[in-house]
Amino acid sequence: MPLSPLLPADVLAANFADLKPPLRPQEALVEAHRCLYCFDAPCIMACPTGIDIPAFIKKIASGHPAGAAKTILEANILGASCARVCPTSVLCEGACVLADRDEQPIMIGRLQRHATDYVEQRGLRVLPPPPAKKSGKKIAVIGAGPAGLGCAAELARLGHSVTVFEKQKQAGGLNTYGIAYYKMKPQVSLAEVELVRSLGVEIRTGLAVGKDIAVAALEQDFDAIFIGVGLGAATRLRIPGENLPEVIDALDFIWQIHTRPLERIPIGSRVAVIGCGNTAIDAVTQAKRLGAHRSFIVYRRDEHDMPAYPFEYEHAKHDGAQFFFKAAPVEIIATDGHVTGLRLALAQMVGGKVEPIPGTEWIEPCDLVLKAVGQEKQSKLLRELFPSLTIDARGVILHDPLTGRTNVPHFFTGGDCGNGGREVVNAVGEGKKAAHGIHAFLTGAKTTPPVQPSRLGAKQGAAGSGLMAPIRAHELEAALKL
Ligand code: SF4
Repeated sequence: MPLSPLLPADVLAANFADLKPPLRPQEALVEAHRCLYCFDAPCIMACPTGIDIPAFIKKIASGHPAGAAKTILEANILGASCARVCPTSVLCEGACVLADRDEQPIMIGRLQRHATDYVEQRGLRVLPPPPAKKSGKKIAVIGAGPAGLGCAAELARLGHSVTVFEKQKQAGGLNTYGIAYYKMKPQVSLAEVELVRSLGVEIRTGLAVGKDIAVAALEQDFDAIFIGVGLGAATRLRIPGENLPEVIDALDFIWQIHTRPLERIPIGSRVAVIGCGNTAIDAVTQAKRLGAHRSFIVYRRDEHDMPAYPFEYEHAKHDGAQFFFKAAPVEIIATDGHVTGLRLALAQMVGGKVEPIPGTEWIEPCDLVLKAVGQEKQSKLLRELFPSLTIDARGVILHDPLTGRTNVPHFFTGGDCGNGGREVVNAVGEGKKAAHGIHAFLTGAKTTPPVQPSRLGAKQGAAGSGLMAPIRAHELEAALKL
């Protein structure tokens, strides 16, 4: 059956209201006063953008939320969106010393939102204007996602002229189009884009590099180029029925929620989501909130293998989503050209690969299938656009994680196209570090990493907040000819 909207506008508005509403001023004061303002605060070390967390909390506690916002935004220009979308329980709040004392960690994310909302709602400008005297250097930033915006803002603050090229109509990347609507509305991201513009950065949208403007033209017009193009389309399932009309990418589904009135979004009565990362959780939960009677996740591995954070998993279960673990999708079934079910089989590991077990198949009825098994790396596009760049075996740009420097001296990178896919805050931190790498390249200044390596990231590796891209030193040295 063709899909159709299921719920009236007022119910949808309630379903998609903020998951974590803002703190009231009194609540923020009380919470800020709980902070111990630790010396050598571990919460700072756990933040990939190095926000001075005790300093901004102290400003809230002393009644200066605008000063708090300045501290936040100077370290992280996307501080408002990170306050909403950061997995704080495994980053700053996960490192808070209060947890060691069996107390609730400080609600750093919500305090950060309190401060950044305060200045945004009042139209206060807290960031100092960029230097009046320009360096005379021009930098092109390709991609206006979190990495590109983080890099552009930092370069502008260092006195350079920056132009950002974005192929979409609106800037902000996944922050504008790809975050669960109950976590963050696109307006927050778009306000941050304006904040970057207010630093003198030119942002040109609807322009695809390689199509509307050649890389060679950018190389001619600019002194350095930052590549922050993110990841590509959803990974294909490679099972029969994948091309049916009711089989769509989870990110496209989330995109619709951000670009259309909620009451006009067609949704299935029974929605299957394939994959179990954080995007899958966002998709299965939003399907339920759009009115699906049943929404479920299909994951080929075990519960403890899933990439989604535990708090996201708990949230989806709380919303009524169901989970099939150790279940492999085998075929998407259709009647009269429309999806009616998903054929599944129990899965097992065979030679390091997950395979369906013959004879264990069953059919789960559904009328919409959302694919959330990851995004493709853009290695093909990167090789076409930048043939002299070294792309590593994972399909990402080989680079120095401390400076964003690649094997081509005037190309720098950061964010998902360099790290393979991490959090928004990682992308901002990497963009910011690349800005300092570019500054050093253009001016001969000493490179000072603007943020500390993350203690949690070092402990957790690629899954954590760490700033170090997982590349081997000798591989990097050879590629960069160090
Ligand atoms: Fe405050 Fe916790 Fe950070 Fe200490 S670790 S400064 S208590 S937020």
